[in-house]
Amino acid sequence: MFENLTARFEKVFRFLKGQGKLTEANIKEALREVRLALLEADVNYRVVKDFVSRIQERAVGQEVMSSLTPGQQVIKIVHEELIKLLGEKAEPLSLKGPSPVTVLLVGLQGSGKTTTAAKLALKLKKDGRHPCLVPADVYRPAAIEQLRVLAGQVGVPCYEPGQGESPESIVKAALNYAGSQRCDTLIVDTAGRLHIDRDLMEELRRLKQILSPEEILLVVDAMTGQDAVNVAEAFHKELSITGVILTKLDGDARGGAALSVRAVTGCPIKFVGVGEKLDALEIFHPDRMSSRILGMGDILSAIEKAQEAIDQEEAERLFKKLQEDSFTLEDFRDQLRQLRRLGSLDQILKLLPGTGMLKELRNMHVDMKELIHAEAIINSMTKEERRKPEIINASRKRRIARGSGTSVQEVNRVLRSFEQMRKMMRQMVGTGRSSGTKAAKK
Ligand code: GDP
Repeated sequence: MFENLTARFEKVFRFLKGQGKLTEANIKEALREVRLALLEADVNYRVVKDFVSRIQERAVGQEVMSSLTPGQQVIKIVHEELIKLLGEKAEPLSLKGPSPVTVLLVGLQGSGKTTTAAKLALKLKKDGRHPCLVPADVYRPAAIEQLRVLAGQVGVPCYEPGQGESPESIVKAALNYAGSQRCDTLIVDTAGRLHIDRDLMEELRRLKQILSPEEILLVVDAMTGQDAVNVAEAFHKELSITGVILTKLDGDARGGAALSVRAVTGCPIKFVGVGEKLDALEIFHPDRMSSRILGMGDILSAIEKAQEAIDQEEAERLFKKLQEDSFTLEDFRDQLRQLRRLGSLDQILKLLPGTGMLKELRNMHVDMKELIHAEAIINSMTKEERRKPEIINASRKRRIARGSGTSVQEVNRVLRSFEQMRKMMRQMVGTGRSSGTKAAKK
């Protein structure tokens, strides 16, 4: 997603940076390109018009013309305006009020409502809440069963409607059910149609009245482009939605929906769905999305992903050992384990900007098999050998290779990597003691 848009923006920015002095004429030329790029990405034309005129106004003003690096300055403006367009800052769910708090999910059929209900339940459960799923889609035959199965996978209770029970009766009963299950949050999956439909809206309005939901979240499929915006406008008019969840952002949608929904409806995008798996729901961060679109990479998301995998305390412990120069093969093994937990670095590197050294990193694959072998080799050493690798002579190497089912060459390789790592770390610690400590503490 956004690849084309990003490429187009990069071209415009290269042009701007290449101009020593910016004039009204070359800014206009650059903005014409921006406009085309956005329209091609399926961004709503009204949104494009406003967006470009805001940038134009700022770009030909003082702030750019008197700047030493006018090209950079325009990029900064585009970045800031894009963040504004996407909603400034992440908007968390509002789950205040007496228990159970209700989140009503609405949207067209196939938008991803049922899947998103389960994803949201998982997210809230991870946050320490006790959600309960409520299937109020009585028209699509498999919908109730689908939600029940997903609830089982997520490990949260799911209300079981009786035969022929109406949506109104289901949600009333679910309120009592939540109490009996000690749930503090109801997530209600509602019916969808292929198009906006009077009867459906009436039904949703009745459910809203019964439940007084804290949140009415519209689930929209990002792949539907311009249509997503029309759908959002219609639902908002009828139900006063409190937020939007954009699904299928992992697909090859051109991104227009993500860029227009907020501006057209004034409703915040609260989450984005980025895959079919149940943990593929992310909080929407306008600033990160803007950076990603402009090819600046989404460094914060990448860091968060890495932090999830890396045990911070462990990292600090290792760093301390390096400072004290007591880094042993046992610590090296701990580090390899962390690396293994990171899994494929690809996912993280994809989020980073594709420049210079990072591009090279991106081509580097961590070979899982090699990591596992290295661990086995270190496991086959005696405690003493791990602490004092210099005692590992030829016959010890042969024994270690036999014990780990590897070869002497591989044992040598692990020892060499360990030495290299130790040397490199010593240098780092030696040259940047204070800044290094700070970096490790972050
Ligand atoms: P509903 O009719 O609105 O309840 O839609 P479903 O929850 O049944 O979803 C329709 C299809 O979209 C299913 O195949 C889901 O797996 C898929 N889906 C939902 N969210 C996402 C997403 O974020 N990414 C992708 N790739 N597929 C999704």
